[in-house]
This record gives sequence, structure tokens and C-alpha cells, in this order.
Amino acid sequence: MPLQNVYYERKVGTSRPCYVCRRPTTTVLATLKTEDFLYTCEGHLSDVATPIATPPPGPSADDVRKIVEEYRARETRRNDAKEEKKDDKDDEKKKESGGLLSYLPSLPGFGQEEKKDSSSPKSPRSPAPVSPVNVPSSPAPPAHRKFALHRAIFSNRQAELARKEQAARAKEVSKNMPQAPRGSF
Ligand SMILES: [Zn+2]
Repeated sequence: MPLQNVYYERKVGTSRPCYVCRRPTTTVLATLKTEDFLYTCEGHLSDVATPIATPPPGPSADDVRKIVEEYRARETRRNDAKEEKKDDKDDEKKKESGGLLSYLPSLPGFGQEEKKDSSSPKSPRSPAPVSPVNVPSSPAPPAHRKFALHRAIFSNRQAELARKEQAARAKEVSKNMPQAPRGSF
């Protein structure tokens, strides 16, 4: 079977020299059935291979759309609430500028009290929209990251593998050779 350019990142117990810099590393890229593997340090991983994007096993496109719609609806509701509050404040300002009450904002605590009141009904709601939007972007990480070797390196590996196979076959043949004449004696 021809070698597939799909390598899985694995961690091994014993470190071996990196394919690029020869520094010991415990990160190895190996094909599914370990027909081929090469060690690479974290820093040279991107020099050797590119990650293969796998579709996240998370929510479907429909789920995402639903969540986004919910989020938008909530957002507009929130904006409406804000609009109402702004109107309230305008009324407040009109009252303030109306003479007698104009000295009140200068009193310590008056302005802050007003602000706290207007923001408190909003605060329990504000963290809610963050979590549903984060759901599609944080799927469970795959057990093994998938990589494709850079073309030059992959053809190198194929050649290397073919050479090894040939050597193994030659050895096999030479092992069988002496047995053949022995039988004829
Ligand atoms: Zn390296």
C-alpha cells in the first residue's frame, strides 16, 4: 500500500534527535499504522509538516445559526433596554437643569448612586451572551493532531522507505539463497 501523507503527532517516552536540529525530542510524527515516523521538536514541527484541519466534532451549522440568532435577539433586546435608560437619564437631566435640583449632582455619592441603579439590572444578563457564542469555537481538542509532511520531506520519506524495503527484500533473498542449493545436494 502506498504511503499516505497523513501523520499523527504523538508523544513517546524516549527522546530521539529531531529530524531538523538533532536535538532530543519526545514528539514524533507517525502514520496511522506507523509505516513511517520521524521525530521533530515542537519548534520544527511547522518546518516539517503542516497541520491538517479536521472538522470540529462540535455543534452542526444549524446549531451555530440558532445560537447566533438567539444571541442577536438578546443583543437587540439589550440595546432596547439601554435606549429606554438613556431616555430616563435625559428626563433626569432636564429635571436637574430645572433650578432647585441642580445642586444635587455636586453632593458626594449622588451621581454614583444613580449610575449603579441603572447598571444593576443589566449586569446579571451581560455575561450570558458570551458563553453561547464561545461554544462553537471551543470543540474538544482531538486526541492526536494530524499533519501532512511538506512535499519535499514526504518524497524523501517515501524514497527512504522504498530503500529500506528493498534492503529488507534483498536480505530476505540472500537468506533464502543458500537454502536452495543445499536442498539439491
Ligand atoms: Zn528541531
